[in-house]
Amino acid sequence: MNRSPSWLGRRSFVAGTGAVGLGLTTAATATARPEAPSPVPSFAPGRPIHFRGATVVTGDPRLGTLPKADVLVTGATVTAVAPKLAVPPNAVVIEGRDRILMPGMIDTHRHLWQTALRGVGAEWTITNYIDHLFAGWGRNWRPEDIYAGNYLAMVEAIDSGVTTTLDWSHALYTYDHAEAAADALFDSGGRARLAYGNGTAGPENWAVTGDVERLLRSRFSSRDQLVTLQLAWEPPHDPAFPERVAWEYARDRDLTVTQHAGIWNLSSDEGIRILRDNGYLLPTNTYVHAGTLSDDSYRMIADSGGNISIAAESELNAGQGYPPSGRARDLGIPLSLSTDTSVWWSGDMFNAMRTVLNADRGLDHQRAHAQGRTVINNRLRTEDMIHYATQGGADALGLGSKLGSITPGKLADLVLLRADTPSMVPLTNPAHQIVFQAARAEVDTVLVNGHVMKYGGTLLAPDLKRARRLAEATRDHIRERAGTQGWANAMEPPPYEVA
Ligand SMILES: [Zn+2]
Repeated sequence: MNRSPSWLGRRSFVAGTGAVGLGLTTAATATARPEAPSPVPSFAPGRPIHFRGATVVTGDPRLGTLPKADVLVTGATVTAVAPKLAVPPNAVVIEGRDRILMPGMIDTHRHLWQTALRGVGAEWTITNYIDHLFAGWGRNWRPEDIYAGNYLAMVEAIDSGVTTTLDWSHALYTYDHAEAAADALFDSGGRARLAYGNGTAGPENWAVTGDVERLLRSRFSSRDQLVTLQLAWEPPHDPAFPERVAWEYARDRDLTVTQHAGIWNLSSDEGIRILRDNGYLLPTNTYVHAGTLSDDSYRMIADSGGNISIAAESELNAGQGYPPSGRARDLGIPLSLSTDTSVWWSGDMFNAMRTVLNADRGLDHQRAHAQGRTVINNRLRTEDMIHYATQGGADALGLGSKLGSITPGKLADLVLLRADTPSMVPLTNPAHQIVFQAARAEVDTVLVNGHVMKYGGTLLAPDLKRARRLAEATRDHIRERAGTQGWANAMEPPPYEVA
């Protein structure tokens, strides 16, 4: 179902200004934006948008990076990319001087429902997470709490240039929870994939009971809308494969599946083998983390055409396994990046890119040093990281022909970064500086499907003030259920311990 955004135009900008005045956006951009914000033009529906004279990192191998080019957006689509395009009558011109235009970033694995507990788990391992949240407080999430987390996460994503987010939604205990998750994604005006899940049971117990089908029919009748549906569950471990009925349903309804796979102590090579033996090692499968698999399993994934989503801040902190970028690259397994959950970590793709690159290069150096050798030239490059954060994500979601690069004919999900900030001047190599210097403060303007969601550093939609109010209510509800001592214990786990 398509919902027409009601936030276009000047009136909603006025509302948006009030919203950001209370939040992080103002603080984050204060140092980057010393001059007065530019007045917001009228982005009326139907007016083309003309980016003029930007450094354009297209991500399209045929177009490359253009040092000074124009990009024309007509409706939802990029219609031209070239230097010095003629400005169509009635177009809104967005000045690209001192700016980098790049494709919108795509996060292929985030548990949006947990966002109201931002910061609670910074000291956790995966064991702490399971004890306190997933098998503990998690059951206390009501539909309105799912809505609150999802809506806030979408505010954060769009503000930071993440134009598509896969919502790995494994707390959809009832149909009302599922509806709330979908509503929040639609209400945000951003692009999202709801990956329907329920971590309390195997998918054979919930994916075929009628709830998924009901949501599919009521909200997802079209595949061309901003929010689409797929499924999320864990790999099998029983050779009898009781999950078969759920996999059959997924195949029959053409719904792709994302799984946490290859996680230390939790999911092993057995799951990959069972899927292979039963014909469900599908080319559309996404394997999240995938840090502890054997070479045989990686080869099976490579042969099947499946893809891996790396959340390196998560893997390195929580202990799921080492980010497998090197092994995946060696075998040609497509990669995308993800942020997992802001109960611990940052929710933007600049950090995701940097952390994978740091982990990958660090491991190469360590391995060489262990043999008394020296890495002379690094393997993984910044352009690879931008690819994983954009086209790689689009490909993982089956949207690669529509999203992921600035290419005429693709949808206009675009991010304009400031290149005149203290951390970006002088601009010499856009790819290098996007990966190692840019951050949220540089995200100036964001388009989703041709709609301007952020302009001149100001978030126009969705509504941060509303997101904050809802998330604080959810945070307070969960804290109350946890109890004072339980909450305090969770925030500060006991000293270092290895079992
Ligand atoms: Zn996860």
